[in-house]
Amino acid sequence: MPGFELFGDKERKEVNDVLDSGVLMRYGFDGMRKGHWKAKELEAALARRMQVSHVHLTSSGTSALTVALASAGVGSGDEVIMPTFTFVASFESILMLGAVPVLVDIDDTLTLDPKKVEKAITKKTKVIMPVHMCGSMADLDALKVLCKKHELLLLEDACQAIGGSYKGKPLGSIGDLGCFSFDYVKTITCGEGGALITNNKAYYENAHKYSDHGHDHIGIDRGAEAHPFLGYNFRISELNAAVGLAQVARLDEFINIQQRNYTILRDALSQIPEVTFRRVPEGGEENYSFLNFFLPTEKLTQKAHRKLGENGVDGCFYWFDNNWHYYRKWQHLTEMKSLGKLPEEVVKSLPDYKNMDFSASDHWMERTISCLIKLGWKENETQERANKMVMAVRSVL
Ligand SMILES: *Cc1c(COP(=O)(O)O)cnc(C)c1O
Repeated sequence: MPGFELFGDKERKEVNDVLDSGVLMRYGFDGMRKGHWKAKELEAALARRMQVSHVHLTSSGTSALTVALASAGVGSGDEVIMPTFTFVASFESILMLGAVPVLVDIDDTLTLDPKKVEKAITKKTKVIMPVHMCGSMADLDALKVLCKKHELLLLEDACQAIGGSYKGKPLGSIGDLGCFSFDYVKTITCGEGGALITNNKAYYENAHKYSDHGHDHIGIDRGAEAHPFLGYNFRISELNAAVGLAQVARLDEFINIQQRNYTILRDALSQIPEVTFRRVPEGGEENYSFLNFFLPTEKLTQKAHRKLGENGVDGCFYWFDNNWHYYRKWQHLTEMKSLGKLPEEVVKSLPDYKNMDFSASDHWMERTISCLIKLGWKENETQERANKMVMAVRSVL
């Protein structure tokens, strides 16, 4: 998946434009810039590719999530539904605003189970935040029905699924808001960076102000701007945006390579009757950044995962035991360890994360292996890898 694998002259040229003008900031300095507006150009390129009217870049995917929630007015006491399988950024971005992360089970899509989502909705619920983990999406039609029925917002975390689609629409563009990450290991990278996308003008207006100290960006002179509300600094720099501008032009090229490599591995593993694959909702098209499959039992899955490593197949993950991506290991969340004291009101409204039944998530996660798809693999290398994978999995069955 990582865009850092295919790096070159185009990225260098864009960065050099910025260095030559000396304007490393995305706002102002019009006279010095020599016409270079890398952040603005990247926003325009993403808007075209994602078929949305508004894009706003941020300093990271995590800050994009925070800015997206803030832009829609999410705050203290509001509940945001998120999956048990995700990245820690999901609850970080929610807690940052004093809102309450409500963890909900996943199903065989490895994303939010719509039936469990409906059960978790309360009077305080404001947002459903599906996370399109490892390249594939949640059942977005089912979640949209719930959002309509209960007047909730749909915020897609598409940080790991850029370039994928659902019923012909780019992932991220289907909800009220969508977020991407361009950190160093994502499909396309800025080094660090993120973006939120929306067709809602009010959210967009809020987002660009909020992510730049609440400055209203009206008029020419920085320093003369008004502040309609409090903000923070979640800006991206021109240097990071310049890298992203070169990378976004290659998104479809990257997805095609991922699809080729994914298909070689999948075809090989399909020969093993005990192997089943993660369900992709009808009408969904993955971005092929990972191949995700299930084995019949937890024991066999652990054995197969170990064997893959021993056979030199790197980049295969057993998320069930992973500290970053699965709720079982999020002790800092369950014990609410913070540097400073959290506001009483936030602490009071949090559920008892330690005593929750997520056995339905465990049922899928304990049997899941996810293999990263690299851009740099040649076709014959991928075939060799596929053979090694089949041997490793067969040997433990
Ligand atoms: C990477 C990632 C994020 C956070 O992005 P950063 O740019 O690293 O802050 C959020 N959600 C998911 C699912 C991610 O994979």
